[in-house]
Amino acid sequence: MAAVTRDALTIWTDDVARRAGFADGAALAAQFGMKPFRLRQLYRAAAKELLASVADVTTLPVELRDRLYDAGVRFSSVTPVVINRSGDKQTSKGLFRLHDGNEVEAVLMEHHGDRNTVCISSQAGCAFACAFCSTGQAGFTRNLTSTEIFDQARHFARELAERGKRVTNIVFMGMGEPFHNYDAVMGAVALLNDANGFGLGHRHITISTDGLVDKIDRFADEHLQVNLAISLHAPNDEIRSRIMPVNRKFSTSELLAACERYVEKTKRKVFFEYVMLAGFNDSAICADELAHLMRGHLYHVNLIPYNTTPDGPFGGTDDAGIWRFAKILDEAGVPTTVRKNMGRDIAAACGQLRAETQPRAHHAVGA
Ligand code: SAH
Repeated sequence: MAAVTRDALTIWTDDVARRAGFADGAALAAQFGMKPFRLRQLYRAAAKELLASVADVTTLPVELRDRLYDAGVRFSSVTPVVINRSGDKQTSKGLFRLHDGNEVEAVLMEHHGDRNTVCISSQAGCAFACAFCSTGQAGFTRNLTSTEIFDQARHFARELAERGKRVTNIVFMGMGEPFHNYDAVMGAVALLNDANGFGLGHRHITISTDGLVDKIDRFADEHLQVNLAISLHAPNDEIRSRIMPVNRKFSTSELLAACERYVEKTKRKVFFEYVMLAGFNDSAICADELAHLMRGHLYHVNLIPYNTTPDGPFGGTDDAGIWRFAKILDEAGVPTTVRKNMGRDIAAACGQLRAETQPRAHHAVGA
């Protein structure tokens, strides 16, 4: 059964109220003698009109604005600490501080034309310890709330709006494992999608998971038009378990069986991510094996050039090697895309910017 999710307005007002020390949105409204339409005005101002602060909401009486502000009501739960723009101006990477001092990353990628994709984080850190990923190496700190996830998108939406542009796509490919923070991520999807708020279509949202089989089944039952991407990165258990500890819990065959069930139920395509690690998972034999797994299904492979991490043991496959690998998949009839590498000069890969500013030792390793 699909989870019973709260509506976007309630999720947002409850989170905003809690950050200011109230039990929920209703308690905040009661404290200030606000009728329900006032909460809708606040939500609309933040989520749809992208206003920065309660002080800017001109539909509210000035005195009420001041009282709300003085009581600690703030629209954004994330504060930008560093925003790096790449040399070609196509990528902006942000490091955002949460109220408790934790930091997460989000990236805006402006593709030529009108596609503006924001990559957002769902957790501070990550519990899954993928060997090639900076975030995974730093360990897990905590889950983000729905608004902490949403506000990363809202930040870049505001930045784009100043240039007459808007966010066209959201990918959950920043820090963390979205399906390990399932409810908050679904809440963030509701906030992103709400027609009375941010208004981004489900088809423009992609959730990427390292392969939590039980959650893939749960997600299939939601029957959303949201895209599903699986971090596969290897064509068999032997190689996958060496870089992705999650594979010891859910094997490659269990994972692919869940993907088949998902396609069966939703009739939607599954995207497989495969990061190209030199001399590790990029041989012609690996390509053949991968083609064998993918062929004949509603699957699409994205080959990802690896962004090397400072003290990691892996190197990235060079462009020629990536294209050789792609050719084998292509000739086997597997739809394949080589992902464009963006923002290499600004440490744009998952966890890299935070790794530069927050030393590893400051992170609690948990879960
Ligand atoms: N936990 C989710 C989202 C993580 S990041 C998942 O595993 O899918 C999104 C993608 O970036 C994943 O496919 C991840 O494996 C990949 N990735 C992580 N570090 C990378 C790096 N240094 N270079 C290229 N891709 C990387």
